[in-house]
Amino acid sequence: MKPAVFDYHSPLELEEALNLLDEFGYDAKIMSGGQSLIPMMNMRLARPLVLIDINHLAELNYIRVTDTVIQIGGLTRHYQVEESNEIERVCPLLTEGMKLIGHSQIRSRGTIGGSVAHADPTAELPVMLTTLGATITLASSEGVRTITTDEFFLTYLTTTIEMNEILVSIDIPLPPARTGYAIDEFTLRKGDFAIVLAAASVTLSEDGKVEAATLCLGGVDGVPVLLNEVTDELIGKVPDHGLIAESCNQIADLVDPEPDIHASSEYRKDLCITYAKRVLERATKRAIQR
Ligand SMILES: Cc1cc2nc3c(=O)[nH]c(=O)nc-3n(C[C@H](O)[C@H](O)[C@H](O)COP(=O)(O)OP(=O)(O)OC[C@H]3O[C@@H](n4cnc5c(N)ncnc54)[C@H](O)[C@@H]3O)c2cc1C
Repeated sequence: MKPAVFDYHSPLELEEALNLLDEFGYDAKIMSGGQSLIPMMNMRLARPLVLIDINHLAELNYIRVTDTVIQIGGLTRHYQVEESNEIERVCPLLTEGMKLIGHSQIRSRGTIGGSVAHADPTAELPVMLTTLGATITLASSEGVRTITTDEFFLTYLTTTIEMNEILVSIDIPLPPARTGYAIDEFTLRKGDFAIVLAAASVTLSEDGKVEAATLCLGGVDGVPVLLNEVTDELIGKVPDHGLIAESCNQIADLVDPEPDIHASSEYRKDLCITYAKRVLERATKRAIQR
């Protein structure tokens, strides 16, 4: 299918793009990688009258690693994050998780900003960024604001981005020493969106006890779900298979996923438990090695 007729603008600077958003308001849509928007336009699920193609905004394409934070520009492509040696060194969760996004063709065009703004609850980036405690910076002609993922994701495909805003960057705090990460997902075929995905971060003290831990699930609700009830059980203890299994068993009472054509609610709950255990164990093992 082909999209409905639209006007096309290709601004060269962020300011120009923001002015276009002010001018066209709800009639306009930002296009970055086009990997979600264009299929939706082709199926006529989206019919913007004006397309603002931000692919020439080179100022939004960067990866910067400082002593305290990783900064990724909104227009940075998935493959750039996946292939960054610097990212792999300081935050291997991102490297591992990017490889799970669709196929290499999608990762060569899809952008960090587009995936986060699209807010699919089974997408890898929202779950990874929530696990990592990332913040999201949005710019409009009125200025910039920075918010947490918790404030950003509202429900399925819905965020707090205002009509006049562009997602310009993601900031991820660098983890302390002895932090291990893991991400894993259940898909029907390689490259598909996940039925359920889980990501975890575990930080150990020098004597091997859990100092901090985060567990986040995707595919069980409209937004990434943090399960602090599970990770709180681990704090101050030396983690082992039994402890992790016991703390994850309560997940069946903590999540209430909607059934769909791919999986019943009960099956999704089982997947949540299996994948939560798996990523917590893997993150713990990696924390010991770092
Ligand atoms: C076959 C296929 C398989 C896929 N599999 C996966 C998968 O397994 N996991 C996964 O996570 N994704 C998957 N995707 C989606 C892919 O990751 C997309 O790249 C991503 O969802 C959207 O990024 P984009 O840059 O292409 O955004 P676009 O499609 O250009 O835009 C998506 C939405 O975000 C808005 N937007 C874009 N950029 C910005 C910005 N900077 N500021 C504000 N709003 C913005 C647009 O207006 C639009 O509403 C798949 C896509 C395809 C086609």
